[in-house]
Amino acid sequence: MIGPFVFTGLPQRVIFGSGTLGRLAEEVRRLGCERALVVAGPVQQALATRVDGLLGELSVGVFSGARVHTPVVVTAEALAVLGQRGADCLVAAGGGSAIGLSKALARRTGLPQLVVPTTYAGSERTAVVGETEDGHKTTRRADAVLARTVVYDVELTLHLPVGLSATSAVNAIAHAAEALYTHEVSPLVVSIAEESVARLASSLPRIAAMPADPDARADALYGAFLAGTCLACATMGLHHKLCHVLGGAFDLPHAATHAVVLPYALAYNAPSAPAAMARLAGALGAEDPVSGLLQLEERLGVPGSLAELGMPADGVERVVGTLMADAVENPRPLEAGPIRDLVGRALRGEGPPAEGWAA
Ligand code: NAD
Repeated sequence: MIGPFVFTGLPQRVIFGSGTLGRLAEEVRRLGCERALVVAGPVQQALATRVDGLLGELSVGVFSGARVHTPVVVTAEALAVLGQRGADCLVAAGGGSAIGLSKALARRTGLPQLVVPTTYAGSERTAVVGETEDGHKTTRRADAVLARTVVYDVELTLHLPVGLSATSAVNAIAHAAEALYTHEVSPLVVSIAEESVARLASSLPRIAAMPADPDARADALYGAFLAGTCLACATMGLHHKLCHVLGGAFDLPHAATHAVVLPYALAYNAPSAPAAMARLAGALGAEDPVSGLLQLEERLGVPGSLAELGMPADGVERVVGTLMADAVENPRPLEAGPIRDLVGRALRGEGPPAEGWAA
């Protein structure tokens, strides 16, 4: 029987294709804007310069200081530039870090945003911004931070390094996976999540074999678009909360943290979400989602432990304390003992216990 369910779609224009970057100027005008500040990260300076050139007289310049986890000190610098240039909109090009800075600026100014994602993180689809100050990451939901327009250009992802493609795609799979066991899950989101995981999982080995394969890249980016939709339309659980705490506390790389944690979070939730696990297994083409995901990750050379990513050996208690202090909506209530074991195992890269954590 279908329902009951709640579904809230978000108002956003999405353009998907190859070579779509050529439509930027027209899309900025469509927003009624004529003075765009281009926002990017330092590694993607060349992309920022290209976007600046494509916008021509519609650009008032580039701010390329975006950093992972959106530190508020960087936002303050960008705000000063925004004010000096008199921008009337934001054009962010890059991964979730560039988009995060754009959202932080939109939250403070109300300016409309056009975003061009170049990873599979999914932030472009959501009305949520996470910001970090003094080692603590805070998330806010606000209509003002939802990008008005998203331009997906497959060409921009052709040279996303294979390692980052893999971890970023697992970051996307995590959005779809957690959407499958949220309590008010709608049948529409279930369909989107299954299609998302299937596209992402099947494209990754093809990307590893031929990184610039346009078909595989289109599948992965489409899967990421769908995953971002799940993130926007469903409540996330233990996995996202744990990654968020880890990222804020130790400044860990976002996508790789998701990739390490996801098999553990799924193993923890499995006893309480059998239907979601069956769907996930089907979409991954595996008998069991945890072992299927671990095998896919091993094949792709994804990092195996949080220690490799920079989590300190004595960091477990801090993470467990922060996690347990907040109410987290999750199919299985958070139990301190198993959660402590989970974080310790992920730190050391031991894998979830073969028999899981008994509920
Ligand atoms: P990122 O944006 O930090 O990018 C990682 C690195 O890859 C950067 O150096 C970037 O310049 C480079 N890069 C990006 N695209 C590239 C490409 N196509 N080719 C070559 N290099 C490329 O990483 P991310 O995982 O995309 O984003 C992480 C951030 O996004 C975190 O701060 C996270 O909290 C945030 N995020 C927010 C939401 C949300 O809904 N609020 C969702 C997902 C992620």
